[in-house]
Amino acid sequence: MDTLELIIDLHIRGDRQGPGSASSTRRAIELAGLNDKNPLQIADIGCGTGAASLILAGDLQADVTAVDLLPEFLTELNRRAEQLGLGQRITTRTASMDALPFQDAAFDVLWSEGAIYNVGFETGIQNWRKYLKPGGILAVSELTWLTRDRPDELTQHWNREYPEVALPSVKIDQLEAHGYETLGYFPLSPDCWRDEYYDPMQRRFDAFLEKNNHSGEAKALIKAEQAEMDLYKRNVAYVSYGFYVARKLPD
Ligand code: SAH
Repeated sequence: MDTLELIIDLHIRGDRQGPGSASSTRRAIELAGLNDKNPLQIADIGCGTGAASLILAGDLQADVTAVDLLPEFLTELNRRAEQLGLGQRITTRTASMDALPFQDAAFDVLWSEGAIYNVGFETGIQNWRKYLKPGGILAVSELTWLTRDRPDELTQHWNREYPEVALPSVKIDQLEAHGYETLGYFPLSPDCWRDEYYDPMQRRFDAFLEKNNHSGEAKALIKAEQAEMDLYKRNVAYVSYGFYVARKLPD
């Protein structure tokens, strides 16, 4: 298997591919003022195997278009949707978030958890805005500093891996600069990283290594995941994902 296939193999069996939780998705739904009264067109961008899509489609009266670059994740999402009786409500599309196959003003809601970093927050919020109807909702989670002062090892690691990491005030300012009104922000709690994401992944390490014959590449992937996890666990007070909920303002 090449590196991408290994990444898919490690992550496809997880309920989610990044930090988050059902309750934080529901908290953002509430901040956005979405309810099941009106039929909604929702796009979930960088949906993975559907952690958020399945909640949006299950809780709301919504048609969800779930987009990811990796068709393997979408196949798994479709399987899970069928299992939950949500197959009719979710349509999957293989596409890149920097070239979305959408019409302008097609959606009431754009959702994206733990994925906008692939194009960068500021680029994403600007380029995606046109796909929202007037007054439409943007709800994204994004790597965010919780404090101004932080241990150097943490600042250095994330500045190298994702230079757009910043305080919530910076992200909110960007939303305001690019035609949105901020409706709310909250940081994801540490259990969204540990209980929902890292610990389940860690429990899959042995089976993953076994399946991939303890190859050098498989071991290197586990080592990198373990290092990121350890860094996070040493620094839970300083970094998280922030959930940003905003409304599109008129042009
Ligand atoms: N939203 C999911 C997945 C987050 S992981 C969850 O919260 O569990 C980030 C996801 O972005 C992965 O599924 C990855 O395949 C996808 N991705 C990476 N680059 C992408 C791109 N350019 N376009 C669309 N999706 C992308």
